[in-house]
Amino acid sequence: PSSHSLSGELHWQWFPLGVNVVKFGGSSLASAPQLQKVLQIVKEEPRRTFVVVSAPGKRTPQDIKVTDLLIQYYQRYLNNEEIESTISAIIRRYEDLFDELHLDKAVLADIAISIRQLATLPKENNAFLFDYFLASGEDNNAKVVASFFKQNGLDARYISPKELGLLVTPEPGNARILPKALEKISVYRETQQILVIPGFFGYTEAGEICTFSRGGSDITGSIVAAGVQADLYENFTDVDGIYVAHPGIIEQPQTIQELTYREMRELAYAGFAVLHDEALMPAYRANIPVVIKNTNNPHHPGTLITTSRKVKHAPVVGIASDQGFASIYISKYLMNRELGFGRRLLEVLEKLALSYEHMPSGIDDITIVLREDQLTTEIENRLMAQLQEVLAPDELRITHHLSMIMIVGEGMRQRIGVTAESTMALAKEKINLEMINQGSSEVSIMFGIKKEQEEKAIKALYRTFFHD
Ligand code: ASP
Repeated sequence: PSSHSLSGELHWQWFPLGVNVVKFGGSSLASAPQLQKVLQIVKEEPRRTFVVVSAPGKRTPQDIKVTDLLIQYYQRYLNNEEIESTISAIIRRYEDLFDELHLDKAVLADIAISIRQLATLPKENNAFLFDYFLASGEDNNAKVVASFFKQNGLDARYISPKELGLLVTPEPGNARILPKALEKISVYRETQQILVIPGFFGYTEAGEICTFSRGGSDITGSIVAAGVQADLYENFTDVDGIYVAHPGIIEQPQTIQELTYREMRELAYAGFAVLHDEALMPAYRANIPVVIKNTNNPHHPGTLITTSRKVKHAPVVGIASDQGFASIYISKYLMNRELGFGRRLLEVLEKLALSYEHMPSGIDDITIVLREDQLTTEIENRLMAQLQEVLAPDELRITHHLSMIMIVGEGMRQRIGVTAESTMALAKEKINLEMINQGSSEVSIMFGIKKEQEEKAIKALYRTFFHD
């Protein structure tokens, strides 16, 4: 768009470009070559004005993440142990970046001071002490990235979550966003500068640092995207996107081009942990598309997550699985007419503080699927005894070491035959189905099988829906 100025000359009028929030994970920020890639990515798209960063991650498989070093530092400080070697290790991680990128050392001096100062914070009556330690990994890294950008010709600055208005609930290690934060953040939408924001933490109304749960920089990115009403939230990781099946099991699976939020949620639940599962929430509520991209292969389109899909897909978009489940089978003749049966059953679980994942049922039977890590032998014995007493079932048994395999796709339920094709594929491989659950979820069908058969099952389902 153009306009005429008073003097009659033709001027280009400033026109809002659109805004992208980009988040880089720890492996994208672990070393100088990685930071060079990040710089290129931010440079080549002027919409990328909000950059959210994690703490430096691993450079090699043996390396330790800065966040994990900070945990060590915190523990040693708390137990009055020697802290100097951990402090040096943390500072060295930043120093390496400064050296390799030839950055101005004044910023490094500030970083070193802030790391040392952590060991002056009060240990007593300080609910947020651990959060202060953890958050410093991201906070200092945002300072490094901002000065690196500046030295390479970008108009960038570090901005603290406090200045940005990222207000959270006072729940140490598990902060949640306060609704008014979004309005505060929205003020920055038209920023002319690139704002480099540390991920993973916000501030309470009382001014304390409070972190999200582990991996929470994804949450910061999503919140900022919602706050500034971004056109796109780009989440840069070290994979090309979300794979249709686990690459540890299927060799070179393709990536999913486009997913709906609901599909993503189901895949994330069943073990596709590319993105922190809470992270989608703010972006989802604000209807902002999210794309998962690879810092090491930035021109790959990645996986786009939206509320409604444009790309046409086969009925199944992905296969995921998760281990560590137990199922309790309860059967009683005329269960369907026994008033209060379900309530009594759930009360037993609740009193033992057990949460359950699924509860498929028939007329005379019901299965409770729960995560096995909640069950010690003692709790399991109490659970079974109480169920026996309260329900007087005809049959009651528990099965351990189950895997849940989930096939996911919005189009699936409308298409006849997906279940049949799946069970046939599994039967051909002689995989015994302990459970099928396609009851209430519109977007997935779940199969409970023995853990030993998981790989075989995934391969069989993959061949059925993605191969040939
Ligand atoms: N550095 C934090 C962690 O490792 C947060 C993050 O990277 O998202 O949990």
